[in-house]
Amino acid sequence: MKKNPADIDDLRHEAESLINFVPANLDTISPHDIQTLFHELNVHQIELRMQNEQLVEAQQQLIASRNDFITLFDLAPVGYLRLDEKGRILQSNRTVQEMLGKSHSELRDKFLAVFIHADDLNIFNARYSAFYKKPDGKHIELRLLDMQKNPIYIELSGRLIKKEAGASLDFNQDCLLVNIIAIGERKKMEEQLELAAKVFEHSQEGILITSPDTTILKINLAFTAVTGYKPAEVIGRTPKILSSGRQGPAFYLNMWQKINKEGCWQGEIWNRRKNGDLYAEWLSICRINDKFGRASHYIGIFSDITLRKLNEKQIEQLAYFDTLTELPNRALLNDRLKQGIVQAVRHKLWLSVFFLDLDRFKILNDTLGHFAGDLLLQNVAKRLKSCVRESDTVARFGGDEFVILLTDFVDEQSAAHHSAEIAKKILNMLSQPFDLSGNQFITSTSIGVTLFPKDGSSVGELIKNADAAMYHAKASGRNNYQLFSDSMRSEALTRSTLENDLHHALPNQELVVYYQPLIDLQTPNQIIGFEALLRWNHPIKGLIPPDDFIPVAEETGMIVAIGEWVLKTACKQFKIWQKQVRQPPLKKICVNLSARQFLGNNLVHTIKQCLDDAELDPEFLEIEITETVMMQNMSTVISILQQLMTMGVTVSLDDFGTGYSSLTYLKKFPINSIKIDRSFVRDILNDPDDKVIVHSIISIARHMRLEIIAEGIENDEQASYLMQSGCRLGQGFLYSKPLPAEQLGALFPPAD
Ligand code: C2E
Ligand code: MG
Ligand code: MG
Repeated sequence: MKKNPADIDDLRHEAESLINFVPANLDTISPHDIQTLFHELNVHQIELRMQNEQLVEAQQQLIASRNDFITLFDLAPVGYLRLDEKGRILQSNRTVQEMLGKSHSELRDKFLAVFIHADDLNIFNARYSAFYKKPDGKHIELRLLDMQKNPIYIELSGRLIKKEAGASLDFNQDCLLVNIIAIGERKKMEEQLELAAKVFEHSQEGILITSPDTTILKINLAFTAVTGYKPAEVIGRTPKILSSGRQGPAFYLNMWQKINKEGCWQGEIWNRRKNGDLYAEWLSICRINDKFGRASHYIGIFSDITLRKLNEKQIEQLAYFDTLTELPNRALLNDRLKQGIVQAVRHKLWLSVFFLDLDRFKILNDTLGHFAGDLLLQNVAKRLKSCVRESDTVARFGGDEFVILLTDFVDEQSAAHHSAEIAKKILNMLSQPFDLSGNQFITSTSIGVTLFPKDGSSVGELIKNADAAMYHAKASGRNNYQLFSDSMRSEALTRSTLENDLHHALPNQELVVYYQPLIDLQTPNQIIGFEALLRWNHPIKGLIPPDDFIPVAEETGMIVAIGEWVLKTACKQFKIWQKQVRQPPLKKICVNLSARQFLGNNLVHTIKQCLDDAELDPEFLEIEITETVMMQNMSTVISILQQLMTMGVTVSLDDFGTGYSSLTYLKKFPINSIKIDRSFVRDILNDPDDKVIVHSIISIARHMRLEIIAEGIENDEQASYLMQSGCRLGQGFLYSKPLPAEQLGALFPPAD
């Protein structure tokens, strides 16, 4: 029978009464009484033992439940602290101890603040008092520090426990039961989300997120910056709002097929901004799937590439187009011609290449100025374009040269026929006067034409032969066209053999300088100087005159080395003669220079060197230049001539009257004398025009205090006419043909 505590009290009273019941005098106790007494005592003893057992059991249960509670408290996955009003730790569970790396006793009575990250202390201190008093519903996020002083992100929440309420739990003061949850992972996620949101918002690329039915859900700032649409204006609508109409339905169909098949698409697309402007974007669209593989979102990311495309176009324009005329330049022409050849070969078609050169363009440039020249070129470009089909190419080849490529002729006959028609049309078009900002200007053109495949198989060959045909057009009076012919081909071949041979001429000592005496017309039997005239003693072809090979030497640049050799040879030879001849003294040795020799910056040095080598005074050397020399880089040429003149070298203008004969040149260039071309001298007696020209040249020269030398005097009549007209010096077959030095030596009386 189980007794409750009340029963136990009863028993105690009973036992006391029993003891009281024992008579003071044991002699008066009967054996029966003693027996009864023993029995009662036994019963009491048994009852006491039972009561004791119950007490032990109750105590054990208490201990077990206390242990359970402690285990629960200690091992709970959240941290528990009991804090007093000041924030002192009264009790901690094992989770907190492990978190901080401290034992219970190490934490006991310490302030929680000791374990808080310095940056969060202020918040904690500021909030703790209020938190302590009224913790319900409040959370404090802060960082604790572990043993290694690493931060642990936690969130505190709490419950205030009043002393009375906690009395059964052995609390003797109010305290705050604090719950600590580690929120590191959550924090990390939050930070990542925050970062992702920032990236989304501040991305330089426009971003839009749509639902599977392409309704726009979200856009970022760059989207607005590029398109002009604010979120409220596009959210809920579809990206069609941006459509420019530049891409057709097939384009979008293909795009969506790719997105849904491969997950992503990217490409260039033209859209329209809110203000109506078109813009180009580089767009990638990706499909985002849910866990069942169904589209949950589409994300479009794009950058505005309008400017880049514009730049690319400009760069292309610069690289492939001539800035002045906006025509394709040489590079693009090459490309088109290459393509044209490939197509023509593939489809068995014929092509035609025109090489055009404006006649006398240089004069326009020099007389009316570069601005007028530019205007003319622009106008010519326009007219040329109007003469051909859109698919044909009109290119500016350089300077006043243009190349036209015509394609798609079915056979040679059609190519030749149409080319001739178009060439005539161009000649006619370009001979109409040009209005150059108020100035009327008339020009003409020379055209050379090659046909593919007949006249060349490569770009280079077709252009080169067209150029050669153009030269023929120029030679046959300008303002006409010439189809490249077999005779031109053999001429070209001869020329290339000549070029080949010329390479060996100097090292093989095949070049010879001839000298033609210069005469004072009043004392014709006295030589006053010589003109050095080059000859090529070709091993097979014999003596070749300079007009036949000097142009080749000029074009290939060989003239620089050859010219230097002539200078050196002539100076040396002259020095020898000077030593031989005393009376009358030899006054000058004239050496012809080519335009090409003025291009490098060594000419002055070279001449000085030649004079030094020959130990010849500069005043004896006269260099002869033509108007072609003057017409290239004017300021450079003028500066070179001035340097030469400063040295003492004299300069004469050769072949005067045959070139452009611009008086401007005479004024601008430092020269000492003019040579009247032999073509005027030849007919001077019969041709009144030539008479006038010669008279004019002489009078101009006199006014400008220039010396005059007449070339090509073949008879006495010419000589005396020139003399009467005021010309003092001359050269010609009448006195002597150009001769090699050894033959001329005989002309001089031996020195005393
Ligand atoms: P140029 O400088 O005008 O030389 C005068 C030309 O007239 C020479 O022709 C000469 O032989 C020729 N000649 C002289 N007197 C008469 C005459 O009475 N009647 C006729 N019909 N012709 C006469 P050449 O030697 O054939 O030279 C032709 C051109 O070649 C020269 O014309 C000159 O421009 C150029 N040349 C000659 N040697 C050189 C040189 O070393 N360097 C350069 N760059 N050019 C040269
Ligand atoms: Mg000359
Ligand atoms: Mg001459």
